[in-house]
Amino acid sequence: MNMETIRHSLSHILASAVLQMFPEAKLGIGPAIENGFYYDFDLPRNLVPEDLKKIEKTMKKIIKDDFLFEKREEDKVRTIQHLEEISQKYKVELAQEIQDPTLSFYDTKHNKRGHVVFSDMCAGPHVDSTKDLRAVGFSLDKISGAYWRGDEKRPMLQRIYGLAFETKEALETFIAQRAEAEKRNHRKLGKSLDLFVFSEKVGPGLPLFTPKGTIIIEELKKRVEKICRQFGFQKVMTPHLAKIDLYQLSGHATKFADELFHVTSAKGHAMVMKPVQCPHQTQIYASRPRSYRDLPIRYMESEKQYRAEKTGEIGGLTRVYAITVEDGHAFCRVDQVKQEAMNMVKIIRDFYTDLGMWGNHWVSLSVRDYANPDKYIGDPGDWDICEAMLAEISEEMGLNAKRCEGEAALYGPKLDFMFKDAMGREVQIPTVQLDFATPKRFDLTYINEEGKPVPPVMVHRAILGSYERFLALLIEHFAGAFPVWLAPVQVKILPIADRHHEYAKTVFDGFNKEDIRVELDDRSESIGKKIREAEMQKIPYMLVIGDKEVESANVSVRSYQEGDMGQLVVDELIQKIRS
Ligand SMILES: [Zn+2]
Ligand SMILES: [Zn+2]
Repeated sequence: MNMETIRHSLSHILASAVLQMFPEAKLGIGPAIENGFYYDFDLPRNLVPEDLKKIEKTMKKIIKDDFLFEKREEDKVRTIQHLEEISQKYKVELAQEIQDPTLSFYDTKHNKRGHVVFSDMCAGPHVDSTKDLRAVGFSLDKISGAYWRGDEKRPMLQRIYGLAFETKEALETFIAQRAEAEKRNHRKLGKSLDLFVFSEKVGPGLPLFTPKGTIIIEELKKRVEKICRQFGFQKVMTPHLAKIDLYQLSGHATKFADELFHVTSAKGHAMVMKPVQCPHQTQIYASRPRSYRDLPIRYMESEKQYRAEKTGEIGGLTRVYAITVEDGHAFCRVDQVKQEAMNMVKIIRDFYTDLGMWGNHWVSLSVRDYANPDKYIGDPGDWDICEAMLAEISEEMGLNAKRCEGEAALYGPKLDFMFKDAMGREVQIPTVQLDFATPKRFDLTYINEEGKPVPPVMVHRAILGSYERFLALLIEHFAGAFPVWLAPVQVKILPIADRHHEYAKTVFDGFNKEDIRVELDDRSESIGKKIREAEMQKIPYMLVIGDKEVESANVSVRSYQEGDMGQLVVDELIQKIRS
């Protein structure tokens, strides 16, 4: 059975149960939504959570019984009259907007006794009978305020949200997963693990990374850049502002018209904060003549770019104004595209393997919409060659890419990687995109073997996208318990009493010398408290130091993942962390 029909039918039953509790209730609308349904009510008093329990009970009673959803057609004029009589003013408003002379109603009518407990003006569809809902898992979820028609000048109604799934088990699974997601929420963990903060004085959408958050970002950056260097990428740096002309040429001024930050100065400057990195990098390429022998040329950078997102959409790290983007491009000949794109796939593979996420993904080979060839930029012959190359890469590297027609960018085909996080959510981050348009727009050329200037192909690649969004994803994926190489603090040393401090300090220095991120908790707190706090911080290794350890010159190791590891020589642990 269609879940939308089930969810919407439940909204009728909800309204019917609310009317039993408040016969004077005025009804708004009651649609099916993702994961459930809601209904809006104008009620004589504010609802409290206990009300939801009662309403839910009444709904269950209705479902247990055998009520039919029966359709009838009514004359519009008479309907409006009737709705006015029973003072359902919101329904009157809805009825007036319908163009047809007749309106359809659904009666919730008892199969045997024939009495009607509820009728609602509605286009349907619904289940045939409440019997059909008996196996469904549903529960009333929450109450919130909602302006009638979403208009803050209209009355505020009370919206009751319900969850509904095919079975009771599916409902339970959803509720458990949602609780898990809440526990892993990156805003909450970002605060408790002290990774980033926001300041009213700085402004919303502008995260400030603490020393610990910065360590994670720097480690990611080091890892990405190390892998990219192996494939010939060279790091460049470009400023955060540019003349708007640059983006007029690239097309981004139009594409991001509403998202540009304009910057002016008292001295008459007029600039924009860069919304993307690519155009700047084209100008490094363009700074000198290039020959076919110079290609491919590969640049990468991790710099900030800026987008004026809608104020209401700003929150946490997923949507911010200042975005640190790991971006890179290869400029190459058509005959080099395959090798370049293949290298980029290898970079993506290596990076996500390090995070333990490779394998939990699928790849889209995003090609043209062949029915509308005119909307794409570039030579159809080049498109043919490059789409075929990406397909070969998929084949040769065992990517098993799914061909998705019409998913290509306007300027070229691409490979998009979809990963699943620990909660089963799909996120699209890495991408390898071929671009025939940008080099032409910027008049980029190289001298080919015949001595003629021709445009190179630009291959864009994103590996982790923006550091902000990626950090949010990793916090939730790992639930804050980062792998050792990313953990802001890798080892925490916990001396039991003051007399153990001296030895603890020696151990601390040993790790510090080896460039392992270590902290020493030499406060005069109980060891129980110290352990609890280190555990809350999800630090990979805790070393408890007492008489026994001082005497044997060892350390007792507790691993966050593996539990008690017993006594180890410090060097052994250093080796383990290194590996
Ligand atoms: Zn309906
Ligand atoms: Zn780019």
